[in-house]
Amino acid sequence: MSSQKEDQSKDLFLHADGDSFFVACELTRRPDLKGKPVVVGEDRGIAVAMSPEAKKLGVTRGMPTFRIKKLFPEVVILPHHFDLYLEISGRMRQILSSYAREVEEYSIDECFARVRPSEIKYFGGEKNFLKELKEEIEKTLGVTYSLGLARTKVLAKQASKLEKPGGMVALLSREDEMKALKATPIGEIWGIGRRTVPKLTALGVGTAYDLVRYPEGEMAKKFSRPVLDLKKELSGEEIFEVRSNVDPRSQKSIQATATFRPASANPSVIWRELARNAEEACGHAREVRLASNKISFFVKSSEFKYRYGEAKLLFFSSDPGAVLNAIEPEFPKLLRKRERIRSTGVILQNLLREEKAPLDLFGRQMEALKRTRVEETADKIRKKFGKGSIGRASSMRRKKD
Ligand SMILES: [Mg+2]
Repeated sequence: MSSQKEDQSKDLFLHADGDSFFVACELTRRPDLKGKPVVVGEDRGIAVAMSPEAKKLGVTRGMPTFRIKKLFPEVVILPHHFDLYLEISGRMRQILSSYAREVEEYSIDECFARVRPSEIKYFGGEKNFLKELKEEIEKTLGVTYSLGLARTKVLAKQASKLEKPGGMVALLSREDEMKALKATPIGEIWGIGRRTVPKLTALGVGTAYDLVRYPEGEMAKKFSRPVLDLKKELSGEEIFEVRSNVDPRSQKSIQATATFRPASANPSVIWRELARNAEEACGHAREVRLASNKISFFVKSSEFKYRYGEAKLLFFSSDPGAVLNAIEPEFPKLLRKRERIRSTGVILQNLLREEKAPLDLFGRQMEALKRTRVEETADKIRKKFGKGSIGRASSMRRKKD
């Protein structure tokens, strides 16, 4: 298509929605049931989730299990295993956070994330980005998610619905957006309440496209803020943020990861990426005055194999130099000869509010805090004059002397 692409310097929003999630999770334990009509909900006496095959037979959500047994004796009815769903959902967020900047857990089988343009570029475009993410999810979790990528949160949410199950929809141009909006009845717009639907229909607004086209001033007279916000989001104006669900000072861990291209087996290339991750994670920690004394780090191979390492600090710190010194001796253990690495990450764990860090006998903690103050001053200068204005820990390490 010759249509113009939208501004490529801005973050995109990703929405991921598990396909028949509970059933899909059960099938990871019961591969023998693949392709069969399966229902989850035996313990509650009603169908809570159905496989596509069960839906096709006519099983609907909320249908009592005794009726299902009578009407469709071939349906396999299973009880819930929430621990399993939580585990798969947690692993999904972990995978996602190695592709995206912020991840919001919206429900057990849905998340939003903010994706940087640089990350998409690494993969050679939005389509490849989605393809690789999808491949990793399916290979490692054994379940499928429908993915939507777009300029706003609401557009992303609508995009993931368009080709469910197994969908992979990137709305890259106005033209794509308009097509998606036309295919979305207003009753299916995320956040439009049941009582609002008839009011909109009465105005001739039947689809998301109609809503976007409706004159803003007229709309403002008749509808409240939430509807107007949705209209803006559907028009591509960013109103909603990805929220990481926790008070920033109560975070248990802070992670920074990045994918790089081409994948590399060269230790110094991989180390440089880890150093960047450490700087980024420490920068986030300093912003909210948190410090860590336990560092996890990982490399991910081209085959989606993760290798984790761990290092402890003798004090709490958010100084990338200290973090890198601690992980350096452990780093070679993660590498295998000729194994090509495509992304890395650093996770600061055991986070503690700086003011609560115990001050030890040898003054190490005091020293660490002093270094943090120095980094903080540097953060301010970088903010004011740009990122290149001050050498960072890894760039200093890479200098010859
Ligand atoms: Mg779902």
